[in-house]
Amino acid sequence: MHQTMPTPAVTFSVVPATAAIAGSAVRFPVRRIFCIGRNYAEHAAEMGASVDRGNPVFFCKPADAVVDDGTQIPYPPATQELHHEVEMVVALHSGGADISEQRALEHVFGYGVGLDLTRRDLQAVAKAKGMPWDSAKAFDHSAPLSAIRASSEIGHPQSAALTLEINGNVRQQSDISQMIFSVPEILARLSRLFELKAGDLIFTGTPAGVGPLVRGDRFHARLGDIAELRGCIV
Ligand code: MN
Repeated sequence: MHQTMPTPAVTFSVVPATAAIAGSAVRFPVRRIFCIGRNYAEHAAEMGASVDRGNPVFFCKPADAVVDDGTQIPYPPATQELHHEVEMVVALHSGGADISEQRALEHVFGYGVGLDLTRRDLQAVAKAKGMPWDSAKAFDHSAPLSAIRASSEIGHPQSAALTLEINGNVRQQSDISQMIFSVPEILARLSRLFELKAGDLIFTGTPAGVGPLVRGDRFHARLGDIAELRGCIV
């Protein structure tokens, strides 16, 4: 006999992760955050890593690691070495598996600028021991992100200055044209590993100049005239 299960007297207060869209009251629903490592030669060199064209480094952050522009970010626990990595961020409005480079940009909703905040000390230990990077990369508040600019407005930038100032001093400065893997290449390669879908964000790697953040630091990241992100560490 079929019996209806009683409804448990439980409420769940889960807030879906979202990001701002420039000029819109609608928010972008964040499904997953993918990140690529070692995508600028000078940054790979400063980390003592070699660039492997055949084998890009991918890792993930949880969707709710996103933090809006203008937010105070708590210095994370369990680290003595919080680092900034300024990156262009790609937002998808559709996806798929085995996406071709030729059609990859059709899936891009827009572009923003973000920080891939990193517990560098924990990452160094993980690298030395061949352990996963999750504790170093996927912590709470580890993905501050600007409002996303729609590609229907700005197209698909091939070059744009990528800059990070800390307390008014330039710490990182490059151009997205210096990326080793282009956005179409990243999407094509990622989609062979994971089915990409609407709501996915991709952090596209950081140029040289990564360094520490301490409590009280104010950051200002810019991607050309496309996006900017401000915040501080408290
Ligand atoms: Mn990064």
